[in-house]
Amino acid sequence: MKIYPPFYAVRTKANCWKCGTPQDVVGLVATSIEEDDDDEPMDSHATIQGITTMPEPLLLELVKLRPAFALCHSQSLGVSYYANACSCGTFFGDHYLYSEPGGGFFPTSDEEFAGIEVHDLPLTEPLELDATWGMGIAGDLVEKGQRV
Ligand SMILES: [Zn+2]
Repeated sequence: MKIYPPFYAVRTKANCWKCGTPQDVVGLVATSIEEDDDDEPMDSHATIQGITTMPEPLLLELVKLRPAFALCHSQSLGVSYYANACSCGTFFGDHYLYSEPGGGFFPTSDEEFAGIEVHDLPLTEPLELDATWGMGIAGDLVEKGQRV
């Protein structure tokens, strides 16, 4: 798929589901996406999740905010994708962060929204990557989070 700027990194605190350690987790929001070349771009904020191929300039920006954002293997999905790794050896699955109410990037209260940092990424070109996406809450993350 192709994603279009402006891009935002979102960062918040979450507890590792396994060892319980609270730590920063990072995620990505694009402002327009195109699933394949034949489609018209969809002009809506979208969270970009489950990234299996990662453009280098994007990875460099994300690891500035979360050094252990790295390729992780998901046993349940049978694929490796870029995720927030934990020092205990596991990682924060994107489903856990984006799709569970109260998860790091699925805030359910003003307090949880207020805990989300929004960083402008200095990337101005569209990017090609393999990933999934979600639109439900992406615009609110950027609008209600704390601009850093
Ligand atoms: Zn852990």
